This record gives sequence, C-alpha cells and structure tokens, in this order.
Amino acid sequence: MKVILIKYGELTTKGENRNEFIKLLTKNIKNILKGLNPIIERNRVRMYIECDDADKAIKKLQKVFGIHGVVPAYKIEPDEKIIKEKALELLKNKEGTFKVETNRADKNYPIPSMEFNNIMGGYILKNTNLKVDVHNPDTVLHIEIRVEGTYIYTDVIKGMGGYPVGTQGKGLLMLSGGIDSPVAGYLALKRGIDIDCLYFEAPPHTSPEAKEKVIKLASIVNEYSGNIRLLVVPFTKLQEEIYKNHADTYMITIMRRMMYRIASEVCHKNHYKAIINGESIGQVASQTLDSINVIECVADMPIIRPVACMDKLEIIDVAKNIGTYETSILPYEDCCTIFLPKHPVIKPKLDKCLAIEKRFDFESLIEETINGIEIIDDFSHNTDLL
Ligand code: ATP
Ligand code: MG
Repeated sequence: MKVILIKYGELTTKGENRNEFIKLLTKNIKNILKGLNPIIERNRVRMYIECDDADKAIKKLQKVFGIHGVVPAYKIEPDEKIIKEKALELLKNKEGTFKVETNRADKNYPIPSMEFNNIMGGYILKNTNLKVDVHNPDTVLHIEIRVEGTYIYTDVIKGMGGYPVGTQGKGLLMLSGGIDSPVAGYLALKRGIDIDCLYFEAPPHTSPEAKEKVIKLASIVNEYSGNIRLLVVPFTKLQEEIYKNHADTYMITIMRRMMYRIASEVCHKNHYKAIINGESIGQVASQTLDSINVIECVADMPIIRPVACMDKLEIIDVAKNIGTYETSILPYEDCCTIFLPKHPVIKPKLDKCLAIEKRFDFESLIEETINGIEIIDDFSHNTDLL
C-alpha cells in the first residue's frame, strides 16, 4: 500500500517543546489533507500517513511548515520475497549506482540489518544494471522493518522546513487583492504565526470580482496553513462618510486609520496577537514613515510588516514562488478611484486627521461595520480550481 512518511528534521532536536510541535504539526497536516481522509500515526521521529490520494497529498505536504522530508513509501509485509519484488519495482527507472540501507527496528525480525543489506544488494545487482557504491550512491533504497509495518522507499522530497504554523499563536492579516499582502501572510506563516485574513470591501464601489480575487488569494495562502478564515468587512458606509466629510487629500490617511481601528478591535475580540500587513516603506504616499506615524497610532496592537524593507522586485519574486502573483495581477481593484485623491498627502499631520474625524460619528459606524463582518472558511471550492 502506498503511504507517506514524514520526517520532522529540526523538530526532533527541540527537546521539551517537541511534543507540542508534533501535536501542532499533526493538526496542521490534518487540516491540509482535509477531504483525503488521512489516517495519521506518529512517533517521536516519524509520522505515517495513509490517505485516499497519496500523490495529491504529497504535493500538498510539500507546502507544510515543520516538515523536513516527505517520503513516498510502500507499506508491505516483512516477507523477503515481497520486499525483493517491491525493491525491483522502485529501482526500475533508476540509473547509475545504488546502496541498500536497512533499519531493523523490529528486533524480532530474524535477519540483522547488515545481513539484509547484503542479501538485497546481491539480488539487485543480479536483476538490474545498477552498480553498488556505498559512499556516494545515486540512489539509496531504504528498508525499514518496524513492528507496525515494513516500509520501503527511495526518494525523499525536501519539505518546507521551519516550525509548524501556530507555534506563535494567531495574527490577523490585512489582505487585499494586491501583490504585497499575500506575500506578507506567507512570510508570517513561515515564522510560525498562524493567520486569519481581514478584507475591506466597499460594494458597489468595489466589484464582486475584486472579492473573488481576494478569496482566491486567501485560498492560495491557505495551502501553507490549512487553517485560515477570511473575514470580510463591509466598509462602504464608512468610506462614503469619510468622503462626504471632505477628507480630500487626507482621504486615504483617514481610511487607513479606520481600517486599523477596525483591525485592532477585531484582534481584541478574537484574541489575535498582532496585525500583519503588506505595507512597504515608501511604496506609496500612505506608506511613508510620516504617514505610518499618524496612521498606526490608532491601533493598540503590535503591527508586523513582513515586507516593510523589501523592494517590489523582491516581493514579486516571492509572490511568483508561492503562486499568488498571477492572481494578484488580475485587474480588479480593491478601491474605487473616486475615493482616491489626485495628490494624497505625503506628510499628514495628526491634528488635521483629528479635526476631520470630529465631523462625523465614526465610532458607531465602526461598531456597525464590525457587526456586519462575514466569515468565509471553506476554500475547498477554490483550491480545487487551481
Ligand atoms: P500592491 O501590491 O498593489 O501594493 P497592496 O495590497 O499592497 O497592493 P496598498 O495600497 O499598498 O495595497 O496597501 C498596503 C497594505 O494595506 C496592503 O498590503 C494590505 O495589507 C492593506 N490593505 C490595503 N487595502 C486593503 C483592503 N481593501 N483590505 C484589507 N487590507 C488592505
Ligand atoms: Mg503595497
């Protein structure tokens, strides 16, 4: 039967935290393989997964943080004849040199590891064109004879490495349809921060396609987490109110102060430990250090900007690698151009912001907006389209 072995790698060296990490990794893997009916068994050094579609699962597992190696393997009877047959099948398309590495963990098995290496080596030499090289072989045939079963495999696919998502708790990613924020989300996951996403939509000023695009981006980022929920914030009323009250060149500054206020409150209510976003210093007027100063002071949460000091080309490289770029460059905009001032203020002043915000009751609008949040947590439809 085809099974998958998971090697934890650096996790195994983590001492007392190890059990916690393995538990978290198991949970993440279960989420990632949802729909494939995985049966997972684990011990201190390995995980064994049986599921419906092993090839599909192997692809998904290559995106899970905390996995050092993904190993497509066969679980077979510990019978010499069967092991030999399977060995030839696995080596069928291999060329060059090989070596056999037997690990007889089940000491009840009568043949010791070294002797079994020799038996198998001789058999393979006789039945294939491969040559032996014990020092630097092209292919290693691994045979693990364990109490729970015998596993045989040749290829170890490199995993993402790192630590399982969630070791740092959960943060809230401000996710837009652009290039930067999905990359920011991925980088946060990579550091062990699990995320949910917060998207501000303003229909009819923003289109249904813009929302679909963000859902799709969330689903792609979710391939690295398995645990993401997308919170959609109805931002129309608040945005229109800011516009009506003549924010003019301060339109974006005030809009972003409102976004941060909402994000902060959502964090407090749901125990997220930080706000994460895709701001990059100096990229646009609202991301100068002066702007950041008057904008983020409304938030009483740590704000993490994983791409703050990356330039656009570096961000694009990551976006291409993780598979979000093609979706991000689709044309649907998150913000209607009528709200965008021709010359947004580059050095906004705090007292001017406060004066504009005094003109309307933004606090009750914020409350109403938060009460209207829609939660999307099923991306199976989207991921299947990929
Ligand atoms: P681009 O990749 O084109 O720069 P962007 O998404 O980075 O797009 P910016 O205007 O630079 O857009 O916004 C900076 C950050 O603010 C985003 O990375 C995102 O984290 C957050 N943000 C902007 N608009 C929204 C929105 N509608 N919903 C949620 N977060 C948003
Ligand atoms: Mg940006």
